[in-house]
This record gives sequence, C-alpha cells and structure tokens, in this order.
Amino acid sequence: MPIFEYRCESCGRQFETLVLKGTVPACPECKSEALEKLLSIPAVKSESTHALALKAAKKRDTRQASEMNRAQREYELHHND
Ligand SMILES: [Zn+2]
Repeated sequence: MPIFEYRCESCGRQFETLVLKGTVPACPECKSEALEKLLSIPAVKSESTHALALKAAKKRDTRQASEMNRAQREYELHHND
C-alpha cells in the first residue's frame, strides 16, 4: 500500500495518506498541495507484510467481490445459452 507521510508546507500539519496512482495528495487541514514528503514510514517491502495487507484488503473487499462474482456468473450464464 503506497502510504506516505507528508508535512504541509502551508500550515505545517503532518499526516499520513494513501497515494493512489494518478492522485495528488493534499493537506487534510488546508487542502494545500504544497507538501513535503517525509521518509519516516518505511516502504512496505517484505512479502509477509504485503501478504498481510492483501489479506486485509481481501477481507474488506469480500462483500464487493462476491457481488462481482455473482454478476460475472450471471453474465456467463446468459452467454452460454
Ligand atoms: Zn495544510
């Protein structure tokens, strides 16, 4: 998970945020995008940590995933006729 810690150059607030591809992090306090990236949080590198994160994400997404699987099955059923 690309979680980074930033310090807002505008108001000085430090915060952690999840930075997804294509998104620009902004200060939760003043919405400024003038942020200094801090390096205090180690990047997630180890396989075990990655696996744990995946497991947690899967658990969280289980309901959504089963909905999608159901939709997929219905789609396939219709197209097998
Ligand atoms: Zn700020």
